Amino acid sequence: MNLLEISHLKKSFENLDVLHDISLSVKEGEVVAIIGPSGSGKSTLLRCATMLERMDEGELTYLGKCAATSKAGGHAVYASPKELKEIQGYFGLVFQNFNLFPHYSVLKNIIDAPVHVQKRDKEEAIKEARILLKKMGLEDKENYYPCQLSGGQKQRVAIARALALHPSVLFFDEPTSALDPELTGEILKVIRQLAEENMTMVIVTHEMAFARDVADRVIFMDGGYIIEEGDPREVIEHPKEERTRQFLARFS
Ligand code: ADP
Ligand code: MG
Repeated sequence: MNLLEISHLKKSFENLDVLHDISLSVKEGEVVAIIGPSGSGKSTLLRCATMLERMDEGELTYLGKCAATSKAGGHAVYASPKELKEIQGYFGLVFQNFNLFPHYSVLKNIIDAPVHVQKRDKEEAIKEARILLKKMGLEDKENYYPCQLSGGQKQRVAIARALALHPSVLFFDEPTSALDPELTGEILKVIRQLAEENMTMVIVTHEMAFARDVADRVIFMDGGYIIEEGDPREVIEHPKEERTRQFLARFS
């Protein structure tokens, strides 16, 4: 069974058609990288997949559970708030700008949703948060506030916070784009480690070497369409479509 299935997704803002008929499925354990120029709809796709944005048309299914189905004319109809809440527990999202709570300590950032949303035992949540912080190389930072951390440390806290909710799939929207180049590597290393542990991930990235080495599949988007997708080496080193070639030429 596919962990995530998106079919015939369409999304417009006012008169701007941003996503045209996007279909995408992700299997358990798969790492999918999404590449493409700025403005091509990558963030909107992740925001629709994680229900931060409502799609206009299409279907969205996690682990066989429908978050949205298509009615006559393709119009998307969402499940009940109760069903959506359950489905929300299947995924986590890591943003470009970390989105940590500035007035919470590192530890509180991580345990807040497990304790208050998932109603887990606080002591258990703290224990697990400490394990995650250790894994992220931040075991000495639990009492720090986000403003006391480097960008790379903030992003590692954001990843720990997402993992603390035990998602089945983790989405990353350009997780290294807000970082100085020397801090990019520490984030890519963490994501690489998660891939080795078979975490299912969908990663929007401009790091082509990383996408080629870590992803099982690469999707190239342009103008709200999936132009090309397939094996990372094929797509990145031997693209079939002219638009993919033009885009990749900027990175070589
Ligand atoms: P990418 O992540 O690939 O750079 P985005 O998904 O952010 O692309 O944006 C795709 C297009 O949708 C852009 O033209 C952007 O200006 C537009 N867009 C994104 N979000 C909104 C919004 N909330 N309202 C209006 N237009 C938006
Ligand atoms: Mg974006």
